[in-house]
Amino acid sequence: MKKTLRLGIPKDIHAIKRQAIADTQELYNRVIRFYMEFFVTHLGIFEEKVPYTKKNGLPAERHWTAQELLTFAERHTLSTGAHPEPLMPLISAMPQAEGMPTGLRRAAINHASGKVKGWHILHKQWEHGGKKGGEPQLGAPHEPVTFYADMVEYPDVDLLPQVKVQQVFIAVTLWMAGAWRKVPLPITLPSYAHDALLAAEAERQRIRAEKALITARKAPKEPWTAEERAAVRPKVWVTRSLSLAVKRDKRYPGNLRFALHVPMEKYVPTPEKAKAQLAANPGLPVVTVDLGVNRLAVMGAFALGQLLATQFIAGGALNHQRHLLLNAIDKKRRQSGRLPAGVQDNVHLWEKVRHLDENAARQVARQIVDFALTHDAKVIVFEYLRRYQAPKEHMSRAGRKNHKRAYWLRGQIVQWVRDLAFREGILTVERNPAYTSHMCPHCPHEYRNVGTRVKHTFTCSNPDHAYVADADFVGMMNLYRKWNGTFTYPSQKRKDEPNPMQATA
Ligand SMILES: [Zn+2]
Repeated sequence: MKKTLRLGIPKDIHAIKRQAIADTQELYNRVIRFYMEFFVTHLGIFEEKVPYTKKNGLPAERHWTAQELLTFAERHTLSTGAHPEPLMPLISAMPQAEGMPTGLRRAAINHASGKVKGWHILHKQWEHGGKKGGEPQLGAPHEPVTFYADMVEYPDVDLLPQVKVQQVFIAVTLWMAGAWRKVPLPITLPSYAHDALLAAEAERQRIRAEKALITARKAPKEPWTAEERAAVRPKVWVTRSLSLAVKRDKRYPGNLRFALHVPMEKYVPTPEKAKAQLAANPGLPVVTVDLGVNRLAVMGAFALGQLLATQFIAGGALNHQRHLLLNAIDKKRRQSGRLPAGVQDNVHLWEKVRHLDENAARQVARQIVDFALTHDAKVIVFEYLRRYQAPKEHMSRAGRKNHKRAYWLRGQIVQWVRDLAFREGILTVERNPAYTSHMCPHCPHEYRNVGTRVKHTFTCSNPDHAYVADADFVGMMNLYRKWNGTFTYPSQKRKDEPNPMQATA
């Protein structure tokens, strides 16, 4: 599992440092270009086969590994005691590469070999295919600089930026004023990022200690057990080599905005298939979610077959806000008349609508996953979302658009939940929604009872069961029955019911 922590480099960074960042970036890509040329003059090595013996003892052949390509490139471009005069010396082509950090140079070589190899394969296919379509081009590299361990300096602890008065710095190796040197870069460090770096450092130390313990009690070359391997995997986010991100931004000097991106990694055991989990534990804690239009979500937490808690997320305010914006767009559109083709109208208003929906989807997803975490759920059950159907009742243009967007939002929420939940080791599944808001969740199956739903209210039609409930709540309850397999359909199936194969995850 991966994510990225972004640390901005402020606008007012010293001009010399700014120049150094830009120069390093440029130089790094020139080194990549140099090695791309090198590999292009040695295309044969991508074809060469190396014999080896498989695990089962049979002879086989393979291509060169990235490591072998790297060694080959270094041998022919770098001057060493054994090979003082390489074939294609890097330093004579680019004197600035002298003293370039090894990690960065190797990254450049790996990148170049990967790029040339990919291009070579495409080019061969193009030639074999009778040269149809455009000839594949090698293109120029635009790679961000990555700062490997030997290029970053954090005083005191490994990944903690140095805190000076009012400013936070990370020192990285850059090409500055004619030499490679460590340059302290100011960064903006919000408190959540600071906490994340601290937690990452603590985890790194835990892993280091764990590794030392295990190695100490083992005989040399003794294989590690599954538990031992699991013990040294990161359980909280740990940091990997940071890289420099450059973005065009007119508000910054030189039109360039810099940031340090810190890739973070954590190990999440792949959750077992939902069916296997249910079979192993029929009372498994799960959360079921009914997504609606007026009410964004109704969720219920179940364990041992019992409903433990419910939570409602209202959507009225969001719908109202969106409706106002769509109305405004509609009105403006009518005033301005027909626009030339390809011209987007009301760009800002549309952007507002998009932001509104995106934020809502993200927030609702977060709430759902938090609810699942609170109740220790291992699975989140959604209804399988059918294709959009326009409402039958009469609606204004803006109203129709609003309805459609609200529907579309449900899909967005499911996507966000799937992503967030997976990071927490929680599975997301979808179940067939047919009848979930039309059947009484409490009446015995023999009744095959279809209640009535009027707007947002469900009424059970069993005369002995005076049950009136919120239709979304009923949907959420029935979704649990669909999950554990106790939901019974009425004898007559609906025509628009999706194929159960599609609806099961
Ligand atoms: Zn009932």
